[in-house]
Amino acid sequence: MSRLSLRFVTLGVATPVVALFGLAALAGLYRGADAALALIFVGFLGASIMLARNLRLLVAWARQPVGTPAPQGEGLWGQVFAELGGRIQRECEVKERLSAELGRFQQAAMAMPDGVIYLGEDDLIEWMNPMAEQHFDLDRRNDLRAPLQNLVRQPEFVAYLRSRHPAEPLVMHPARRRDRSLQIEVVPLAAGRRMVLSRDVSQLERLENMRRDFVANVSHELRTPLTVVGGFLETLIDGLDDFSREDVVHFLTLASEQSTRMQRLIEELLTLSALETGAPGVGEAPVDVSELVDEVFRETELLSAGRHEIRLALDGGGELLGSRKELHSAFSNLASNAVRYTPAGGHIEIGWRAGAGGGEYWVRDDGIGIDLVHIPRLTERFYRVDRSRSRETGGTGLGLAIVKHIVTRHQGELKIESQPGAGSRFAILFPASRLKSG
Ligand code: ADP
Repeated sequence: MSRLSLRFVTLGVATPVVALFGLAALAGLYRGADAALALIFVGFLGASIMLARNLRLLVAWARQPVGTPAPQGEGLWGQVFAELGGRIQRECEVKERLSAELGRFQQAAMAMPDGVIYLGEDDLIEWMNPMAEQHFDLDRRNDLRAPLQNLVRQPEFVAYLRSRHPAEPLVMHPARRRDRSLQIEVVPLAAGRRMVLSRDVSQLERLENMRRDFVANVSHELRTPLTVVGGFLETLIDGLDDFSREDVVHFLTLASEQSTRMQRLIEELLTLSALETGAPGVGEAPVDVSELVDEVFRETELLSAGRHEIRLALDGGGELLGSRKELHSAFSNLASNAVRYTPAGGHIEIGWRAGAGGGEYWVRDDGIGIDLVHIPRLTERFYRVDRSRSRETGGTGLGLAIVKHIVTRHQGELKIESQPGAGSRFAILFPASRLKSG
C-alpha cells in the first residue's frame, strides 16, 4: 500500500475513534457516565458489524479465482479492497507476460533442429525437445526425472557426461543407428544444472568422406599417367644412344598420350568445378535443338570413324531454354560414351523429340551394357564399371557426373536403362517450361 493511502487509513481509523470518544466525553459531562458508556458501546457495536460484513466480503473474494474484481467494501475497506485488487491485477499481468515469454522460448526449443536436454541435480532429465528424443531414442512421457546416463549407456557418452569440463564436443554413433553421427556438447548452467546439446552431423561426415575420396581419386588419376611419363623420360635419359629413332618416337608418342589424358582430366575437373560453383541460369538463351543435336551427330560420326552405324532420329525441333555450351557438353558426353562402350560394328541412335509433356534427348546403343547394380552410382565422380576399359578409351570417370550436373541445372532428369550385353539407353528429359516448339 502506498504511503499516501497509509496516512489516509490512519486518519480514517483515528478520526471516528477520536470523534466517538469526544462525543462520549460530552455525553458523560452532561448526561452522566451511563450515557457515555452507552454511546461507546453503540459506536463499537456499529464498527464490529461493519468489520464482520467486510471480512465476509474479503473471505468470499479470496475464494474466487485469481483475477476476480475486488468487492465494493464499505468505508475505508473499499479503499483497502481497491488497493489489494490493483496489486493482484498487476501481478497477474506480470505472470501472464512471463508465461507467454516462457511459452515462446519453449516453442522455439521444441522446434529446434538440434536436440536439447536439461539436466537437473544428479543429471536427472528435467526437460527435452523432440529432436533429443529422436537422437537418443528417449521418450518424453516416461523418461523425465530419470538419470540420463541410465538411458544412454554407451561408454563414450557416459564418460563424456562424467568429465565435468570436456574440452571438445563428442562425436558418437548411436547404438541403434550406427549410420548416424551425433555431435554432443554439454553446457554447464547455474546451480549444478547442465544442458546437453546434440546435432546430427551425418551429412557433414558424408561430405567430408566424399571430399577425402575425391582428393584421393584425383591424386591417383594424375599419378598414373605422371608415373608413365616420368618412366619414359628416365629411360630415354639413361640410354638415349641405345634407342633407335623409331623407339624414341614410340616412347614420346606414349608420353604425349598420357599428357593428353592428364590435360583432359584437368579440363573436366575444371568444368565440374565451374558447374558446381557457377550460378545456374547465367548465359541461358533459346537453343535451336535440331541444329545442336545434328552437330553432336556429326561429331559422333567423326569419333566413331566408321566403326559404328550411327542414326539420327529427330522428331520435332523447337527451342530449348538453356546454356548451349552446357547442353552441348551433356549431349556429346552421352554420345561419345556410346561410341566408347560399343564394339565396332554396333549401332548407335541419337535422338530428340518434343511434345506437350516436355522434350527428350536420348542416345541408344547396342554395346556392352551395364549391370543393374552399377546404374545408381554411374553419376558419382570417378565411378566406372570397368576401370581399365574406361582408361583404354580415354575416359576420366567424370563424364556422367558432368552430365548429371548440367541436367540438374536445367531442371531435367537423367534416365538410364541398360542390360549387360544388350546395350544402353541414356535419356535426358526436359520440362515443358523450358521448351518452345518450332
Ligand atoms: P568414363 O570417362 O569412364 O566413360 P563416365 O562418367 O562417362 O566415365 O561413365 C561412367 C561409367 O559408366 C563408365 O566408366 C562406364 O563403365 C559406364 N558407361 C557410361 N556410358 C556407357 C555406355 N553407353 N555403355 C556402357 N557403359 C557405359
